[in-house]
Amino acid sequence: MITGIPNANEYKQIAMECLIQAYNSIVSVDNALTNSTPREKIWEYNQIVLRSGLVLIHQGIEGLLKSEICKTSPLLLIEKKRGDWKTLPESADENFSELYTIGGEDLLRTYYACIGAKKVHEKFLQLYEEIRVRRNKIVHGIGNEKLTPEYILTLILDTFTYLLGKDSFWEAASSKFYQHPGFQYEDEDVEWEDMIHYNKMEHLSFFLGKKTLKKHFSVDITARPYLCPHCTEKSEIATKKGAKRADSKWAFLHPNDPLGTNLSCIVCQSDFGVLREDCGKDGCKGNVKYLIEDDDDSETYICLTCWHDETREAS
Ligand SMILES: [Zn+2]
Ligand SMILES: [Zn+2]
Repeated sequence: MITGIPNANEYKQIAMECLIQAYNSIVSVDNALTNSTPREKIWEYNQIVLRSGLVLIHQGIEGLLKSEICKTSPLLLIEKKRGDWKTLPESADENFSELYTIGGEDLLRTYYACIGAKKVHEKFLQLYEEIRVRRNKIVHGIGNEKLTPEYILTLILDTFTYLLGKDSFWEAASSKFYQHPGFQYEDEDVEWEDMIHYNKMEHLSFFLGKKTLKKHFSVDITARPYLCPHCTEKSEIATKKGAKRADSKWAFLHPNDPLGTNLSCIVCQSDFGVLREDCGKDGCKGNVKYLIEDDDDSETYICLTCWHDETREAS
Protein backbone atom coordinates (compact mmCIF):
# COMPACT_ATOMS: atom_id res chain seq x y z
CA MET A 1 0.00 0.00 0.00
CA ILE A 2 0.99 3.62 -0.34
CA THR A 3 1.43 5.27 3.04
CA GLY A 4 1.69 8.89 4.14
CA ILE A 5 -0.92 10.11 1.67
CA PRO A 6 -1.26 13.91 1.91
CA ASN A 7 -4.54 15.80 2.09
CA ALA A 8 -5.88 18.87 0.32
CA ASN A 9 -5.27 21.14 3.30
CA GLU A 10 -1.56 20.32 3.53
CA TYR A 11 -0.99 21.39 -0.08
CA LYS A 12 -3.11 24.49 0.41
CA GLN A 13 -1.16 25.58 3.49
CA ILE A 14 2.16 25.27 1.65
CA ALA A 15 0.73 27.19 -1.30
CA MET A 16 -0.41 30.01 1.00
CA GLU A 17 3.01 30.21 2.62
CA CYS A 18 4.67 30.55 -0.80
CA LEU A 19 2.29 33.22 -2.09
CA ILE A 20 2.26 35.30 1.10
CA GLN A 21 6.04 35.03 1.39
CA ALA A 22 6.34 36.44 -2.15
CA TYR A 23 4.03 39.30 -1.13
CA ASN A 24 5.68 40.03 2.23
CA SER A 25 9.15 40.16 0.66
CA ILE A 26 7.98 43.01 -1.58
CA VAL A 27 6.37 44.87 1.35
CA SER A 28 9.60 44.52 3.38
CA VAL A 29 11.74 46.08 0.66
CA ASP A 30 9.27 48.93 0.11
CA ASN A 31 8.92 49.55 3.86
CA ALA A 32 12.67 50.04 4.10
CA LEU A 33 12.76 52.73 1.40
CA THR A 34 14.48 55.98 2.25
CA ASN A 35 13.86 59.45 0.88
CA SER A 36 17.21 59.79 -0.80
CA THR A 37 17.47 56.67 -2.96
CA PRO A 38 15.00 56.33 -5.88
CA ARG A 39 12.68 53.32 -5.52
CA GLU A 40 13.59 52.16 -9.01
CA LYS A 41 17.25 51.84 -8.02
CA ILE A 42 16.31 49.90 -4.88
CA TRP A 43 14.34 47.44 -7.00
CA GLU A 44 17.15 47.06 -9.53
CA TYR A 45 19.34 46.12 -6.58
CA ASN A 46 16.66 43.75 -5.21
CA GLN A 47 15.79 41.92 -8.45
CA ILE A 48 16.45 38.60 -6.69
CA VAL A 49 13.48 39.28 -4.37
CA LEU A 50 11.23 39.57 -7.44
CA ARG A 51 12.75 36.59 -9.23
CA SER A 52 12.43 34.35 -6.17
CA GLY A 53 8.92 35.80 -5.71
CA LEU A 54 7.98 34.56 -9.17
CA VAL A 55 9.37 31.08 -8.40
CA LEU A 56 7.33 31.06 -5.17
CA ILE A 57 4.15 32.06 -7.05
CA HIS A 58 4.69 29.14 -9.43
CA GLN A 59 5.14 26.80 -6.47
CA GLY A 60 2.06 28.32 -4.85
CA ILE A 61 -0.07 27.72 -7.94
CA GLU A 62 1.11 24.11 -8.21
CA GLY A 63 0.23 23.64 -4.53
CA LEU A 64 -3.27 25.01 -5.06
CA LEU A 65 -3.83 22.77 -8.09
CA LYS A 66 -2.58 19.74 -6.13
CA SER A 67 -4.82 20.67 -3.22
CA GLU A 68 -7.87 20.68 -5.50
CA ILE A 69 -6.87 17.36 -7.11
CA CYS A 70 -6.48 15.84 -3.62
CA LYS A 71 -10.18 16.46 -3.00
CA THR A 72 -10.86 13.86 -5.71
CA SER A 73 -7.88 11.62 -4.86
CA PRO A 74 -4.23 12.29 -3.92
CA LEU A 75 -3.34 9.12 -5.89
CA LEU A 76 -3.96 11.11 -9.08
CA LEU A 77 -0.81 13.08 -8.26
CA ILE A 78 1.52 10.09 -8.54
CA GLU A 79 3.63 10.17 -11.68
CA LYS A 80 4.76 6.53 -11.62
CA LYS A 81 3.01 4.23 -14.12
CA ARG A 82 0.33 2.10 -12.46
CA GLY A 83 2.13 -1.05 -13.65
CA ASP A 84 5.08 -0.14 -11.44
CA TRP A 85 3.13 0.62 -8.26
CA LYS A 86 4.23 -1.56 -5.36
CA THR A 87 0.78 -2.13 -4.01
CA LEU A 88 0.10 -5.85 -4.47
CA PRO A 89 -0.05 -8.08 -1.34
CA GLU A 90 3.57 -9.26 -1.57
CA SER A 91 4.98 -5.72 -1.98
CA ALA A 92 6.47 -3.64 0.79
CA ASP A 93 4.80 -0.30 1.54
CA GLU A 94 5.77 2.80 -0.40
CA ASN A 95 5.70 6.25 1.12
CA PHE A 96 3.94 8.94 -0.89
CA SER A 97 6.65 11.50 -0.11
CA GLU A 98 9.24 9.34 -1.86
CA LEU A 99 7.28 9.17 -5.11
CA TYR A 100 7.48 11.74 -7.90
CA THR A 101 4.34 13.77 -8.35
CA ILE A 102 3.04 15.17 -11.62
CA GLY A 103 3.81 18.71 -12.73
CA GLY A 104 3.34 21.08 -15.65
CA GLU A 105 0.91 19.99 -18.36
CA ASP A 106 -0.14 16.76 -16.56
CA LEU A 107 -0.93 18.69 -13.40
CA LEU A 108 -3.01 21.18 -15.32
CA ARG A 109 -4.97 18.52 -17.22
CA THR A 110 -5.64 16.53 -14.04
CA TYR A 111 -6.76 19.71 -12.26
CA TYR A 112 -9.27 20.54 -14.98
CA ALA A 113 -10.43 16.91 -15.00
CA CYS A 114 -11.24 17.19 -11.29
CA ILE A 115 -12.76 20.63 -11.12
CA GLY A 116 -14.28 21.24 -14.56
CA ALA A 117 -13.29 24.21 -16.75
CA LYS A 118 -16.44 26.19 -15.93
CA LYS A 119 -15.45 26.56 -12.30
CA VAL A 120 -12.03 28.04 -13.10
CA HIS A 121 -11.54 31.70 -13.97
CA GLU A 122 -11.21 32.05 -17.75
CA LYS A 123 -7.93 33.95 -17.47
CA PHE A 124 -6.20 31.41 -15.22
CA LEU A 125 -4.66 29.35 -18.02
CA GLN A 126 -3.00 32.40 -19.56
CA LEU A 127 -1.69 33.48 -16.15
CA TYR A 128 -0.27 30.02 -15.38
CA GLU A 129 1.45 29.82 -18.77
CA GLU A 130 3.06 33.23 -18.34
CA ILE A 131 4.34 32.35 -14.87
CA ARG A 132 5.51 28.88 -15.94
CA VAL A 133 7.59 30.23 -18.86
CA ARG A 134 9.18 32.99 -16.79
CA ARG A 135 9.84 30.67 -13.86
CA ASN A 136 11.60 28.13 -16.11
CA LYS A 137 13.85 30.85 -17.49
CA ILE A 138 14.74 31.94 -13.95
CA VAL A 139 15.51 28.48 -12.57
CA HIS A 140 17.50 27.49 -15.66
CA GLY A 141 19.48 30.70 -15.47
CA ILE A 142 18.49 31.99 -18.90
CA GLY A 143 17.13 35.44 -19.60
CA ASN A 144 17.43 38.21 -17.13
CA GLU A 145 14.34 40.23 -17.91
CA LYS A 146 13.84 43.02 -15.43
CA LEU A 147 10.86 42.42 -13.17
CA THR A 148 8.95 45.14 -11.33
CA PRO A 149 7.30 44.87 -7.89
CA GLU A 150 4.01 45.99 -9.45
CA TYR A 151 4.15 43.08 -11.90
CA ILE A 152 4.82 40.50 -9.16
CA LEU A 153 2.12 41.99 -6.90
CA THR A 154 -0.37 41.75 -9.77
CA LEU A 155 0.56 38.09 -10.37
CA ILE A 156 0.02 37.31 -6.67
CA LEU A 157 -3.38 39.02 -6.55
CA ASP A 158 -4.50 37.41 -9.82
CA THR A 159 -3.44 33.97 -8.58
CA PHE A 160 -5.55 34.33 -5.43
CA THR A 161 -8.58 35.75 -7.18
CA TYR A 162 -8.56 33.33 -10.12
CA LEU A 163 -8.09 30.22 -7.98
CA LEU A 164 -9.69 31.08 -4.63
CA GLY A 165 -12.03 33.97 -5.38
CA LYS A 166 -12.31 37.63 -4.41
CA ASP A 167 -11.15 38.68 -0.92
CA SER A 168 -8.96 35.56 -0.62
CA PHE A 169 -5.67 37.44 -0.97
CA TRP A 170 -6.32 39.82 1.93
CA GLU A 171 -7.77 37.01 4.07
CA ALA A 172 -4.58 35.01 3.58
CA ALA A 173 -2.27 38.00 4.18
CA SER A 174 -4.14 38.92 7.39
CA SER A 175 -4.35 35.36 8.62
CA LYS A 176 -0.59 34.87 8.23
CA PHE A 177 0.04 38.20 9.95
CA TYR A 178 -2.15 37.44 12.98
CA GLN A 179 -0.57 34.00 13.42
CA HIS A 180 2.68 35.78 14.35
CA PRO A 181 3.84 34.28 17.69
CA GLY A 182 4.55 37.84 18.94
CA PHE A 183 0.83 38.26 19.58
CA GLN A 184 0.97 35.51 22.22
CA TYR A 185 3.87 37.21 23.98
CA GLU A 186 2.43 40.74 23.96
CA ASP A 187 5.48 41.75 21.94
CA GLU A 188 5.28 45.53 21.63
CA ASP A 189 7.00 45.61 18.26
CA VAL A 190 4.47 43.21 16.81
CA GLU A 191 1.56 45.06 18.42
CA TRP A 192 2.83 48.25 16.86
CA GLU A 193 2.90 46.52 13.50
CA ASP A 194 -0.71 45.57 14.05
CA MET A 195 -1.59 49.25 14.03
CA ILE A 196 -0.02 49.69 10.65
CA HIS A 197 -1.39 46.50 9.08
CA TYR A 198 -3.85 48.72 7.19
CA ASN A 199 -0.85 50.47 5.60
CA LYS A 200 -0.45 47.42 3.43
CA MET A 201 -3.70 48.34 1.73
CA GLU A 202 -2.36 51.87 1.17
CA HIS A 203 0.79 50.33 -0.32
CA LEU A 204 -1.22 48.22 -2.76
CA SER A 205 -3.51 51.07 -3.67
CA PHE A 206 -0.62 53.48 -4.19
CA PHE A 207 1.36 51.21 -6.49
CA LEU A 208 -1.41 49.31 -8.29
CA GLY A 209 -4.25 51.83 -8.19
CA LYS A 210 -7.75 51.30 -6.81
CA LYS A 211 -9.10 50.27 -10.21
CA THR A 212 -6.75 47.27 -10.39
CA LEU A 213 -7.31 46.45 -6.74
CA LYS A 214 -11.10 46.62 -7.11
CA LYS A 215 -11.43 43.31 -8.97
CA HIS A 216 -9.90 41.45 -6.00
CA PHE A 217 -12.55 42.50 -3.45
CA SER A 218 -16.26 41.79 -3.22
CA VAL A 219 -16.86 45.25 -1.72
CA ASP A 220 -16.73 48.13 -4.24
CA ILE A 221 -13.57 49.94 -3.14
CA THR A 222 -13.97 52.68 -5.72
CA ALA A 223 -17.10 53.92 -3.88
CA ARG A 224 -16.92 56.73 -1.27
CA PRO A 225 -14.57 55.57 1.51
CA TYR A 226 -15.14 55.95 5.27
CA LEU A 227 -13.00 55.60 8.38
CA CYS A 228 -13.36 52.21 10.04
CA PRO A 229 -13.98 52.75 13.78
CA HIS A 230 -12.04 49.60 14.68
CA CYS A 231 -8.96 50.26 12.52
CA THR A 232 -8.91 53.98 13.32
CA GLU A 233 -9.05 53.43 17.10
CA LYS A 234 -6.38 50.76 16.86
CA SER A 235 -4.09 53.08 14.89
CA GLU A 236 -4.18 55.77 17.57
CA ILE A 237 -0.79 56.74 18.98
CA ALA A 238 0.00 59.34 21.61
CA THR A 239 2.26 62.17 20.43
CA LYS A 240 3.46 65.34 22.15
CA LYS A 241 0.75 67.22 20.26
CA GLY A 242 -1.98 64.82 21.41
CA ALA A 243 -3.43 61.65 19.91
CA LYS A 244 -2.61 60.91 16.29
CA ARG A 245 -4.71 58.55 14.23
CA ALA A 246 -4.62 57.04 10.81
CA ASP A 247 -6.76 58.88 8.33
CA SER A 248 -6.80 55.91 6.03
CA LYS A 249 -10.31 55.09 4.82
CA TRP A 250 -11.04 51.51 3.84
CA ALA A 251 -14.66 51.08 4.97
CA PHE A 252 -17.43 51.20 2.35
CA LEU A 253 -21.21 51.03 2.25
CA HIS A 254 -22.00 47.43 1.47
CA PRO A 255 -24.14 47.08 -0.53
CA ASN A 256 -23.33 50.45 -2.07
CA ASP A 257 -26.74 52.01 -1.42
CA PRO A 258 -26.85 55.82 -0.93
CA LEU A 259 -29.10 55.35 2.12
CA GLY A 260 -27.48 52.12 3.29
CA THR A 261 -26.72 51.52 6.96
CA ASN A 262 -24.16 48.72 6.63
CA LEU A 263 -20.46 49.35 6.30
CA SER A 264 -17.72 46.81 5.54
CA CYS A 265 -14.07 47.48 6.29
CA ILE A 266 -11.86 45.55 3.93
CA VAL A 267 -8.78 45.88 6.15
CA CYS A 268 -10.15 44.29 9.34
CA GLN A 269 -12.89 42.50 7.40
CA SER A 270 -15.61 43.58 9.81
CA ASP A 271 -19.19 44.59 9.02
CA PHE A 272 -21.02 47.08 11.21
CA GLY A 273 -24.18 49.16 11.31
CA VAL A 274 -24.11 52.96 11.00
CA LEU A 275 -26.50 55.87 11.54
CA ARG A 276 -27.25 58.11 8.57
CA GLU A 277 -27.30 61.63 10.00
CA ASP A 278 -25.46 64.84 9.03
CA CYS A 279 -22.21 65.54 10.87
CA GLY A 280 -22.33 68.54 13.22
CA LYS A 281 -18.84 69.78 12.39
CA ASP A 282 -18.58 72.88 10.21
CA GLY A 283 -17.42 72.07 6.72
CA CYS A 284 -17.90 68.29 7.00
CA LYS A 285 -20.39 66.92 4.51
CA GLY A 286 -20.34 63.45 6.08
CA ASN A 287 -23.60 61.73 7.00
CA VAL A 288 -22.38 58.38 8.27
CA LYS A 289 -21.96 58.01 12.04
CA TYR A 290 -21.00 55.16 14.32
CA LEU A 291 -22.12 54.64 17.93
CA ILE A 292 -18.73 54.40 19.61
CA GLU A 293 -19.74 54.70 23.28
CA ASP A 294 -23.01 53.90 24.89
CA ASP A 295 -23.82 54.02 28.62
CA ASP A 296 -26.95 54.52 30.72
CA ASP A 297 -27.12 58.29 30.28
CA SER A 298 -25.29 59.14 27.11
CA GLU A 299 -24.39 57.99 23.63
CA THR A 300 -21.36 59.11 21.65
CA TYR A 301 -21.45 59.02 17.88
CA ILE A 302 -18.37 59.47 15.75
CA CYS A 303 -18.42 60.82 12.20
CA LEU A 304 -16.77 58.29 9.90
CA THR A 305 -15.79 61.04 7.48
CA CYS A 306 -13.92 63.41 9.85
CA TRP A 307 -13.80 61.52 13.24
CA HIS A 308 -15.69 64.37 14.98
CA ASP A 309 -17.55 63.04 18.01
CA GLU A 310 -20.86 64.16 19.44
CA THR A 311 -22.30 63.06 22.75
CA ARG A 312 -26.00 63.23 23.43
CA GLU A 313 -28.48 61.93 26.00
CA ALA A 314 -29.23 58.27 25.64
CA SER A 315 -32.38 57.68 23.63
ZN1 LIG B 1 -11.34 48.10 9.90
ZN1 LIG C 1 -17.72 64.81 10.05
